Amino acid sequence: MTGSILIVGASRGLGLGLVAEHLKRGFDVVATVRKPADEAPLKALPGAERLTVLQADVTSDADVARLAKAVPGPLDVVFINAGIIGPKSVVAASADELDNAMHTNVFGPIRLAHALLDQIHEKTGVLALMSSRMGSIGEASSGHSEVYRATKAAQNSLARSLWLTKAQARGVTVLSIHPGWVKTDMGGANADIDVETSVTGMADQLTANLGANAHRFIDYSGQEIAW
Ligand code: NAP
Repeated sequence: MTGSILIVGASRGLGLGLVAEHLKRGFDVVATVRKPADEAPLKALPGAERLTVLQADVTSDADVARLAKAVPGPLDVVFINAGIIGPKSVVAASADELDNAMHTNVFGPIRLAHALLDQIHEKTGVLALMSSRMGSIGEASSGHSEVYRATKAAQNSLARSLWLTKAQARGVTVLSIHPGWVKTDMGGANADIDVETSVTGMADQLTANLGANAHRFIDYSGQEIAW
């Protein structure tokens, strides 16, 4: 299947991989980066004649409003991938570090999702938010990276509210998606899987969920994760 997709946070890692995978599949792709210097590697990808690159920082209200106006709707899929690991300890972190983690992983992506909802196809479209299995309270067996875990749990909660208040009525499926533990700057060299394995699986899940009209918490292979 081909179609159209917006990928937010595409300079490197999983975002860059998602752009490459969807260009390979024949999609029209809109990708965002924060720095102009990050546009060149995207524009060198095979299929880049179907790629538009825009700039956006998810923590900037001005960027969110500008992006919502600039994207060519209606899109089949919006994938908000941007995220940071944040500080390790909720006690040792400064208030600014905690605010930045919450704004980058939770409030920025969710406010952007609200702003973009009307640009996603009614009845068949998918809104994907990059979550993490570490956001699962039901499956937690370790407390490390406690701030990061809390940001992804909070993002899942606001994604559910968005689905219940707006997306469900529009017929837009919301996916809170775990990419696997992936070898990126964030995941590190010892992670389980490479970027290609993760993005291939996630791309399959995006198309498999077109028209599902649900809010699901799944991993890159489609396996359900406990909330
Ligand atoms: P990464 O290599 O560190 O890439 C993070 C991406 O997010 C970069 O493109 C970065 O842009 C962008 N970003 C950060 N803050 C942003 C902001 N304020 N506005 C816009 N873009 C911003 O990490 P990754 O492993 O690819 O992670 C991507 C997503 O997957 C994250 O949400 C992460 O939490 C999630 N995840 C990753 C793993 C894993 O094992 N790797 C597991 C579970 C979930 P810059 O280059 O400008 O910084």
